[in-house]
Amino acid sequence: MLRRLLSPQYNRKRRVILMSVSPTRQAVWYAVKYFVFIIILMAVAAVLSAVFQFVKVSTESRAAYNPGRQKIIVDAGHGGGDGGAVSDSGLLEKNLNLELSLTLRDMLCAAGYDVIMTRSDDSMLTWEGAPSAKSGDLRARTEIASANPDALFVSIHMNKFPSASVHGVQLYYSPNHPASKSIASAIRDGVRAQLQPWNERPLKEAGSNIYVLDRIRSPAVLVECGFLSNAGEAAMLSHAEYRQALALVICSSLLDYLDKAG
Ligand SMILES: [Zn+2]
Repeated sequence: MLRRLLSPQYNRKRRVILMSVSPTRQAVWYAVKYFVFIIILMAVAAVLSAVFQFVKVSTESRAAYNPGRQKIIVDAGHGGGDGGAVSDSGLLEKNLNLELSLTLRDMLCAAGYDVIMTRSDDSMLTWEGAPSAKSGDLRARTEIASANPDALFVSIHMNKFPSASVHGVQLYYSPNHPASKSIASAIRDGVRAQLQPWNERPLKEAGSNIYVLDRIRSPAVLVECGFLSNAGEAAMLSHAEYRQALALVICSSLLDYLDKAG
């Protein structure tokens, strides 16, 4: 090809072609090209301007709604070698906790909150020097809360009880911060208003048996989302739609609480 381009015969042909285009037609051709170029530039500028405006407006509205960019720690209980409770049908608590927590994370992020996940995959957390994998996992979760003292801590779990008839969402709150009980109360009210009007289960203050709530000093609650020991509730929890409904109730209740708390 190169040899062909350099050949006098080829260039002679090309000169003939160029010479055959009149100066007027060349001018029109350049004008058309220039016009198309300007149109493309204007279209790109319009798209960029629209994108910029969208980002600006959404950032402003989020800032107005959440001026301090409240942080929320979503703690998916268990994980990895610690499966948590197991239903008769073989549902593992750790998987349900994670799926619900990831949905809750997405909802809270969409509402403009900064979300920190204690885990976002099927693994245990680790803490160097801990006497066991389980104690290291729990310690690491509390350390995430300690590192973010201005964050609300929301732990997601599934329940289990010897009596198979027991069912319904149960809220625990940390005794170490006065806001914990208010947050638990907001979520319990949301659950009753939107999902379980029959749920009379009272809020419970966490004792030393719930390590994370016992240790965390900032506002912290634990949501037991349902009993895997109850066949009906376990079947509901196995459906993504029901877990999404639970995540939505928790999310909207947190938003209600934060709205009222100012
Ligand atoms: Zn659990």
